[in-house]
Amino acid sequence: MNTLAPPALPGGVEDGLYELALEACPQALTLVDVRDPLQPLVYVNQAFELLTGYPRAEALGRNCDFLQGPATNAVAARRLRQAIEGGERAMVTLQSYRKDGSAFAGELLLEPIGDHRGTVTHFVGLLADVSERDRRRGDGAAAPRRRDPRRGRAMLDDRIEQSLVRARTVGTQGALFLIELGSGGDPALADDELAHSRFYEVAGAIGEAVPEAGTSLTCLDDDRLALLLDPAPTPLQVAGIARRVHAAIGSRLARRRDGTSCHLGIALAPADGDSAQQLRLAARRALDRARLRAPSGDVAFFADALDAQLVHLRGMEHDLAAALAGDAFDLAYQPVVELDSGRLVGFEALLRWNHAQRGAVAPDDFIPVAEATGLAAALDDWVLDHALTQLARFDAVGGGALRLHVNIGTGRLETPDFAAVLRHRLAQHGIAAGRVELEFTERRLGAGAPATPGRLRALREQGVTLAIDDFGTGSSNLYHLTQLPIDALKIDLSTTHGAPRSAAAASVARMICELGRTLGLDVVVEGIETAAQLAHFRRLGCPKGQGFLFSPPLDAAAALALVATGRPLGGPAPARRRRAGAAA
Ligand code: C2E
Ligand code: MG
Ligand code: MG
Repeated sequence: MNTLAPPALPGGVEDGLYELALEACPQALTLVDVRDPLQPLVYVNQAFELLTGYPRAEALGRNCDFLQGPATNAVAARRLRQAIEGGERAMVTLQSYRKDGSAFAGELLLEPIGDHRGTVTHFVGLLADVSERDRRRGDGAAAPRRRDPRRGRAMLDDRIEQSLVRARTVGTQGALFLIELGSGGDPALADDELAHSRFYEVAGAIGEAVPEAGTSLTCLDDDRLALLLDPAPTPLQVAGIARRVHAAIGSRLARRRDGTSCHLGIALAPADGDSAQQLRLAARRALDRARLRAPSGDVAFFADALDAQLVHLRGMEHDLAAALAGDAFDLAYQPVVELDSGRLVGFEALLRWNHAQRGAVAPDDFIPVAEATGLAAALDDWVLDHALTQLARFDAVGGGALRLHVNIGTGRLETPDFAAVLRHRLAQHGIAAGRVELEFTERRLGAGAPATPGRLRALREQGVTLAIDDFGTGSSNLYHLTQLPIDALKIDLSTTHGAPRSAAAASVARMICELGRTLGLDVVVEGIETAAQLAHFRRLGCPKGQGFLFSPPLDAAAALALVATGRPLGGPAPARRRRAGAAA
């Protein structure tokens, strides 16, 4: 028996990873509390929701006998009850029922969990659909599946209406994906069981591709599924998710080699309709558009402007991938200086892309595209690699004390291998971790993904420092941000530019500097362009800054030349206070 005593966690496992693992587990998982006479379900994972069609809100708090129905084997059900009462492990196969009324042979493996005194308090259960296996064995345990498309549609409408209510009351946005699987002309798919197994493969692929909370999948029939995201992120991110889902289904279908195609139409709530029926219709139109555009499979939005953006995105994605493969990016290095003395203390690496047709594309234009299309991680690794190479070059001309600031997208932070990649790259370039500061924008960190603190901690344990970039622009929960394991705040240039003339910006600037002092964080002022701005932040006691007043971002050769001179950078004469100190 397992016990509830705190397990000895293997080193290196970050906060929240166990919960994520349970959610990601491809098999339906349940946790039952047997201290309560009702023996309610206290946890089910996403695979359970997919398998049974019951969203967790409807399953939790109930005894799991709601999965049983008229044809459930009474002997097996009794065996299950006895095992629970006796605190024993059990494995039974029960005729079970999904929310839409269809039956499946549910094989349930139950394992008791005890507290430190050995009293059984919970059972963890693994539920699997073994209908197919039983059918092949010919033991007839599973009743033929009946799927009523009207029930699926009614369930979907219910969810859409709930989403619309939330949109009206709290201003969220929902996204409806209508997914259609074409037969690819394979007559074998007329076979109900084959189509059924294909449906489950596809549902599994979708579950893996969209781990975000607040998603629900409904089966409309064996060829069409609906996925509702509520709340949905920005349309650009919705497009990214849609492409991820489409690619995941595509690769799953490719394994079947039956020529099945997949089309996906997207409608947004409430923008594309204010009733379930209108939204379904909008998604249907989008689906038609996808089918028209590419018979072999595609994704389309209902709204014309968003759809045009999607097509543009695809062009950009293609160009970005080619640029990455062809090493067509460059890095610029903007000096970071000590505000009092103008002494060079480091550089921020800034990505540059010179597109063959479009010319210079601003990072603010292509980085969101990279993030929506899954290229961001490779791009961040490219930046890290090249910036570390450059830091080693600075060392060779006397820049051994300089630090390097590298911007990292949170997409990269969320990939579990980033800490290992960073460790490897630092070792490869022979750079001490303490010389590298990773910058994450406030907007992204403020989104509060559950794994973020653990991931940040794993990076920091290596010795790199972490900064919140564009601080003061994300309207995120300040307390939450200060709880993250960070070392520095970067004041966004909108605050920098406003501070000398606007009382509001000045008080934000003062508050950030005060916050930095109180929490022992470094503060870097971005975008200093004028002597008045510099004077303002010197008065506030901010230690570091960067901006055109000192230097614009420089190409690698100019940055190297600057390091070699070792001279302090521009700006007006050093602060009075400092001079007085030096004279004393
Ligand atoms: P950021 O990290 O806040 O970078 C500062 C931006 O301000 C840079 O814009 C820089 O060129 C600009 N800047 C510096 N000094 C001044 C000034 O005195 N006045 C004004 N008006 N602007 C100044 P850039 O290079 O266009 O980068 C924009 C943003 O794109 C960056 O903001 C960062 O969030 C992102 N970015 C840039 N490079 C990378 C990268 O390698 N990876 C990732 N993930 N993001 C990057
Ligand atoms: Mg930055
Ligand atoms: Mg910034």
